Amino acid sequence: MIQHQLKLRPNAKLEKQLDEWLWILTGVYNWAIRKIENDAADKIYYSPKRFQNLLAGHSKKVGVPSHVIQGTLSVAYTAWQRCFRKIAGKPKLKGARRPLNNIPFPDPISAPDGNYIGLLGLGRVRFNKQRLPEGRIKCGRLVKKASGWHLCLFIDAEPNQIIRTGQGEIGIDPGFKDLLTLSTGEKIEHPRELEAAAKRLAQAQRGKNKKLAARISERVANRRKDRNHKLSRRLVAENTKIIFSADSHKIVAKKFGKSVSSSGHAQLRSMLKYKSLTGGTQYIEVSPKNSTRTCSACGCLSGPTRLKGLKVRHWVCSMCGTSHDRDINAAVNTLSAGAGTSLEQV
Ligand SMILES: [Zn+2]
Repeated sequence: MIQHQLKLRPNAKLEKQLDEWLWILTGVYNWAIRKIENDAADKIYYSPKRFQNLLAGHSKKVGVPSHVIQGTLSVAYTAWQRCFRKIAGKPKLKGARRPLNNIPFPDPISAPDGNYIGLLGLGRVRFNKQRLPEGRIKCGRLVKKASGWHLCLFIDAEPNQIIRTGQGEIGIDPGFKDLLTLSTGEKIEHPRELEAAAKRLAQAQRGKNKKLAARISERVANRRKDRNHKLSRRLVAENTKIIFSADSHKIVAKKFGKSVSSSGHAQLRSMLKYKSLTGGTQYIEVSPKNSTRTCSACGCLSGPTRLKGLKVRHWVCSMCGTSHDRDINAAVNTLSAGAGTSLEQV
């Protein structure tokens, strides 16, 4: 299954209709969130199927297809499930400050005809022409972004084959100074998309230009995603084994602010994970415990600690005298950790 996004070109009438749907679905979503909470307090629980059908018959009244309403109900249901399982926090109600921005189409969608695609209850919708991957479209979701409406499709198709270009094995140490340091000694720099855009973003925010601010952040996110796709693809193609030091970025981000959170390590990790699976690469995450302190040459703990010694970029092992680059040393330790020699696996 792959995801593919189309940029739609709705006319004014359709745009108005979509905004009306969003308005109605916001009500549906909020009703569902409260309903589950209140009923759970009374020890009433629902199966996903039963919950989906609670608003059966409402579709005609509000003029939104029943499957779209069911889709919204199941989004709310899933939000609570994630909260009950302690994966996520309590779902919040949608409103002006936190608007609902997507319309689910849980049913299969027929293949587009030229640059028009047919959507239940909306008719033929025009999109910016582009080639779609072959395969059945299992479901979709309309998403309202700062740059306009997009249609996100879930297509039953094989992901693009990753052509192997190397047989390497690498350890990866994610950082805040460099994006990644590889055990091969390569450092992949932060493309500081956010910093470059930050000025314009701040300007837009000061000028209370919400629209412009939203567009800038959207563009930054797009660029970051694109970069992460290319990078993860390259690393999987070049290596048969990837060991990632899965750092607790919350701690580092707290200390250093947005340069860490903007680097999108979490996104990169998930891309490495699924691309490894299709590309035939072994992907392992290990704990970063002691990865900076351990000397990769002799194994003693003579190096700087992870957080306190963040300023130390180079150090010399007091036991064996090897001179280390802090991050490369950590990446080398990560690699050996994946081989099960020194560090525990997460
Ligand atoms: Zn040493």
